[in-house]
Amino acid sequence: MISRSAWVGLCPECGCGVYSFRDYFQCSRRIDRKCHFFIRRNRLTVFGKESITDPEMAVLLKEQAIPLKNLQRKNGERFSCGGILIYDEDWGWSIGFTRWVPASPPNLPKRVKRLVKRIE
Ligand SMILES: [Zn+2]
Repeated sequence: MISRSAWVGLCPECGCGVYSFRDYFQCSRRIDRKCHFFIRRNRLTVFGKESITDPEMAVLLKEQAIPLKNLQRKNGERFSCGGILIYDEDWGWSIGFTRWVPASPPNLPKRVKRLVKRIE
């Protein structure tokens, strides 16, 4: 239902719209099985992050990393990192972990990086 979903960005697989629902994000073309893009909001719950928000997904869909702070491994160890969208043929779309440097996000467009440098 339209009232229950919101547009959050463009699909990294097919370029169509990705919409957010209560429990998941999904590409509009997944309905007719032409696209695989589907991620549950609770994808990182096992690491202690309850939910992936719409603004976070919007950043991910721009092929940028989001900061993931204070996650927890099974052994209790805490860690922080960046999160990016990844695709695996067996597991589908997911959130992958990458190094996160708050001062210089690794995948900002060059234009933005230059701007950040000027400000510093
Ligand atoms: Zn798609």
